[in-house]
Amino acid sequence: MTMILLASNENPLGMPESARRAAAAALPGAGRYPDSNGTALKHALSARLDVPADWLVLGSGSSEILELAAQARVMPGEHVVYSQYGFVVYGQVAGQVHARSTAVPARDFGHDLDAMRAAIGEDTRLVFVANPNNPTGTFIEAGPLLAFLESVPPQVTVLLDEAYGEYLSPAQRYDSIAWVRRFPNLVVARTFSKAYGLAGLRIGYGVAQHGLAGRLNAQRPRFNVSTPAQAAALAALNDGAFLARSYQLNTAGRARLAAGLHELRLASIPSAGNFLMVQVGEGRTVHARLLAAGIEVALLDNYGLPHWLRITVGLPEQNEAVLAALRDLAPAR
Ligand code: PMP
Repeated sequence: MTMILLASNENPLGMPESARRAAAAALPGAGRYPDSNGTALKHALSARLDVPADWLVLGSGSSEILELAAQARVMPGEHVVYSQYGFVVYGQVAGQVHARSTAVPARDFGHDLDAMRAAIGEDTRLVFVANPNNPTGTFIEAGPLLAFLESVPPQVTVLLDEAYGEYLSPAQRYDSIAWVRRFPNLVVARTFSKAYGLAGLRIGYGVAQHGLAGRLNAQRPRFNVSTPAQAAALAALNDGAFLARSYQLNTAGRARLAAGLHELRLASIPSAGNFLMVQVGEGRTVHARLLAAGIEVALLDNYGLPHWLRITVGLPEQNEAVLAALRDLAPAR
């Protein structure tokens, strides 16, 4: 049985063909160390985002950008703020640097920015905000987000995690790079793992003004991004058709999944990402039964959400399969 993997918010299309070819072409060069400055990719990102190349930090996935931000900014015992159902790695990263951290209670499952602002104290060094957030899929409009950035003291770094930013609708999109130009304490983190389809190659990036980007780069392991990963990311960045296809597939699939769950009388949270959080009763039981039916989704026990599961939007037939499996389970729920 081929498993249907809907647990990790990967792109159901897999790698773009363009990136596959670029990675294969780069492979013979992998007998040597990669370009530690990521020159070609940074050049392309710099032109795309209209920022100097030294405002960019390449990471082994955007996960590493989160780690570098904590290493660069937080001393043991200092304070980190994030949201209750914020991406689980924020708490882990804070733990790695021996920070004191506050998971600020969520509002309607999303970030309560007022409460997060209120949680910032004298010794707060870093605030994580995910937009959209994983696993809730919740989205913060540009207006409140900008007001939050304006309200945060300049000595506190804000890491705005846009791992799922490419899935935002045109009406939801906002120009966070313009905010980077305005706020010297802002890092925007992005990834090639999701809409660009390169999760296994491990590549993401951060954008911040020169001083802060330099501090992150100073923490960066020298050869943290491989040659094939750099080449694939460059190809994917230039593959507008693949990105558009990923976006369309996700938008349609997410709507179909949401409608199907609604028909099954299962509550889900409106999502701006490539996944849906759904309330299923006993999460572990439903998770195990879906596994037995050949479908892997994500448990959310580690978020303190034992009655919810997170389902990544898949190919149309995969979405139908998960809905059919949930329908079959209905008597068990
Ligand atoms: N941020 C968020 C909100 C995520 O959900 C993820 C992946 N699950 C990441 C960052 C990190 O992904 P990656 O390291 O693959 O870029």
